[in-house]
Amino acid sequence: MAQAAESARTVILTVDDDPGVSRAVARDLRRRYGESYRIVRAESGESALEALRELKLRGDLVAVILADYRMPQMNGIEFLEQALDVYPGARRVLLTAYADTNAAIDAINVVDLDHYLLKPWDPPEEKLYPVLDDLLEAWRCSEYRPVPATKVVGHRWSARSSDVREFLARNQVPYRWYSTEEPEGQRLLAAAGQDGQRLPVVITPDGTPLVEPEAPDLATHVGLATTPTADFYDLVVIGGGPAGLGAAVYGASEGLRTVLVERSATGGQAGQSSRIENYLGFPDGVSGAQLTERARRQAAKFGAEILTAREVAGLEVNGAARTVRFSDGSAVAAHSVILATGVSYRQL
Ligand SMILES: Cc1cc2nc3c(=O)[nH]c(=O)nc-3n(C[C@H](O)[C@H](O)[C@H](O)COP(=O)(O)OP(=O)(O)OC[C@H]3O[C@@H](n4cnc5c(N)ncnc54)[C@H](O)[C@@H]3O)c2cc1C
Repeated sequence: MAQAAESARTVILTVDDDPGVSRAVARDLRRRYGESYRIVRAESGESALEALRELKLRGDLVAVILADYRMPQMNGIEFLEQALDVYPGARRVLLTAYADTNAAIDAINVVDLDHYLLKPWDPPEEKLYPVLDDLLEAWRCSEYRPVPATKVVGHRWSARSSDVREFLARNQVPYRWYSTEEPEGQRLLAAAGQDGQRLPVVITPDGTPLVEPEAPDLATHVGLATTPTADFYDLVVIGGGPAGLGAAVYGASEGLRTVLVERSATGGQAGQSSRIENYLGFPDGVSGAQLTERARRQAAKFGAEILTAREVAGLEVNGAARTVRFSDGSAVAAHSVILATGVSYRQL
């Protein structure tokens, strides 16, 4: 029931200034996805943005946005750039004519485009639906999947509250913050049976209150993997910064059974950067959060496991195997281990 209600509110939005094309796209989308998704169509960037803002206010979800490139006033790339601010998790597709493929390729970096489709795409069974099926699947698996938000109740000057918020943000877990000074914060504390002496209190999407949670406990409750599914791997990568994520992608893509272990949040130092200009393949720059999200998705696509909030405390050689020991004493073994632990700065 819950799932049916959820998808009934999930939207695929299409915008094209040519009314005929716009209707044709919407018709093709409805034919295949109409039962599970609401298809919303607009005929200009402005009206599509207005529609997105209305959907946001109503709390609706947007899974995929398809935008025509050549539109007067606001072209498809400009529109998608603004649409990103409203629905950062929606997958983005640009509809282009053959002559505009260079613009589409540029857009891959500017708006983190997921795909561009050449018009016309007949038959849709071959050229449109397989692309959309993949994007909808990726959207469903992404960090932006529709979860009721985690709530954090704390004091704004409390270091523990700040740590929890940073952990959730860096792991791209959506949460809502309530100060103990506001009535809703007080109401939530009362509902959780707390008097505010021990903060923060995190209320998970399924309504479980966690009082002063440690990172591993928090990670498990918000849906991040913390436990390896096997005892033995081909490759264990320690550290989830760009180097570790890169190693996990290449290991897993070569068919190695790979697990990446990160003690805090994937992205490492780079995850905290607002714009990285010198990363290969991103001539227009990319934010650390975007780079991390894409790298995580890429690693997961090839089957790498990613464990968060697990600290490695020891490495032993046992014959041909290497044993990686976690700080809680548990262990995992592998043929090979890559240390990608970056740097940590000594603090005053
Ligand atoms: C704010 C900021 C902006 C930056 N901007 C740029 C830029 O624009 N261009 C540029 O070239 N560089 C930039 N850098 C530097 C760049 O981010 C780093 O060089 C890069 O992140 C190093 O990658 P790494 O994977 O080797 O290590 P890190 O990013 O340091 O990642 C190492 C990871 O290993 C984890 N780890 C460590 N020990 C353990 C353990 N025992 N168990 C489990 N996990 C562990 C850590 O938690 C961390 O996540 C920036 C750095 C910062 C902080």
